[in-house]
Amino acid sequence: MSENGTGNGAGIKGIDDFLKPMHLISDETKMFMKSLRKFVDKEILPHEQEIDDYWDWPERKERTFVHDLWKKLLIDLGLQKFFLPPELGGSGGASTVEMLTLVEELSRGDYGAATTAFITPWSIAALALPKPNEVLLKKFAPFLLGDEEYVICSAITEPHAGGSVEDVNLKGSQIRTRARLEGDEWVINGHKLWPSAFREAKLFRVLCAVEGQEFPNLAQIFVPLGTPGLATGKPYRKMGTSIDTNGDIWFDNVRVPKENRAHDDPQEELLSVIANVTIGRLTSAAFPMGIMKRAYEILRDYVNSREIAGKPMKDHGAIVHELGQIARDIMAAEAYLYYVADRMDRPEIYGFPWEQRNVAAASAVQNTVGDLGWSVVSRAVELMGSYGYSREGRMEKLLRDLKITQIVVGGPILRLVELSRYYFGTEMV
Ligand SMILES: Cc1cc2nc3c(=O)[nH]c(=O)nc-3n(C[C@H](O)[C@H](O)[C@H](O)COP(=O)(O)OP(=O)(O)OC[C@H]3O[C@@H](n4cnc5c(N)ncnc54)[C@H](O)[C@@H]3O)c2cc1C
Repeated sequence: MSENGTGNGAGIKGIDDFLKPMHLISDETKMFMKSLRKFVDKEILPHEQEIDDYWDWPERKERTFVHDLWKKLLIDLGLQKFFLPPELGGSGGASTVEMLTLVEELSRGDYGAATTAFITPWSIAALALPKPNEVLLKKFAPFLLGDEEYVICSAITEPHAGGSVEDVNLKGSQIRTRARLEGDEWVINGHKLWPSAFREAKLFRVLCAVEGQEFPNLAQIFVPLGTPGLATGKPYRKMGTSIDTNGDIWFDNVRVPKENRAHDDPQEELLSVIANVTIGRLTSAAFPMGIMKRAYEILRDYVNSREIAGKPMKDHGAIVHELGQIARDIMAAEAYLYYVADRMDRPEIYGFPWEQRNVAAASAVQNTVGDLGWSVVSRAVELMGSYGYSREGRMEKLLRDLKITQIVVGGPILRLVELSRYYFGTEMV
């Protein structure tokens, strides 16, 4: 990895030669990026063509490479600890820019692996913002610092809606999973589906509405695996992001201590959920960024060795036009993603992640990077001909994964609605 992004010597460039702001990344994070890159090259890319076959890995009797992946990644490499701030014993404290570079590195290997590996910090952010919940952070920290994988999944989407449940304008009015306070316990009833890493999660952050509460009516309640009344189904088979498990979770009179709510104050809870949407959308823009980098590597090698009409493919005028557009789109995506991430790291100037302008900015970034990614990867599929659409070429998998990055965290149209709300004062639902 080049330190300053100025190239890797004469001739062909590499994935570090686009527009990543290396000056905003600490030496420690650069080292971690290098470790993740090595990990991806050694442990993930050798399985690139078969990884889709493992969508049901938790249900298999035999041990697969996916079972071993999480321990190596979360414990041996220390990613799990990285999620916790240093004052709680973790090695974290990364800026938004740094966090996204790590997400991008892992997404270059596999979007599903990156989703599962980075789902836990999403819940930690819910506990940390707008004010840290010291009690719960201290309660869960020992598990995150331990020698076992400890994944926290985020149960938001429901059978009737994902977008409307997390539409911050609706302030919880569309949430059907209910929590009621009985003495010192929350009693939860409802049905969630789709949470990333739901099958291996040890803890569930459940977005509920509180019975009898006025708007805003959102409560993020943490439910440990094994709590009576909590049940999960089998993983769904999806078009991509296969090894990230998604499926149903049922809550039937599930009881947890009152202290397991992220923020008691309804207003603070609302800000926490809004900040979480902003963070989720920015993170979901780093996924297609990593996918684009992988597409670039595969395509670069392909056009360097393939000939058309007896001439190197990359020297044909019409092909050059396509390659130039691909390079331009990757540059535009990288500049935009990290520019907005850097703004998030400067709340004293640009505001906090729960402010509407930042929800709008994160929404715009997810849509734009996703659209640029789609353009890059679908052009690459076309340029590679039969190798583009066949599994052996490794490009079609990237296209399937990329489509999913465009939909998660509310859907692309809801994100345009956020922009219209902020910039035009739209007041529709
Ligand atoms: C790999 C993967 C990981 C996932 N991880 C999680 C997770 O960790 N936790 C979780 O809870 N869910 C998760 N999901 C679910 C995902 O977040 C939802 O699919 C997504 O939010 C869209 O919700 P929906 O499917 O219910 O579609 P809907 O909400 O029904 O949306 C359908 C369409 O309507 C549009 N729309 C939404 N609101 C409006 C509006 N107000 N006006 C106009 N159009 C609108 C959307 O943009 C979309 O195009 C995951 C899904 C996948 C595939």
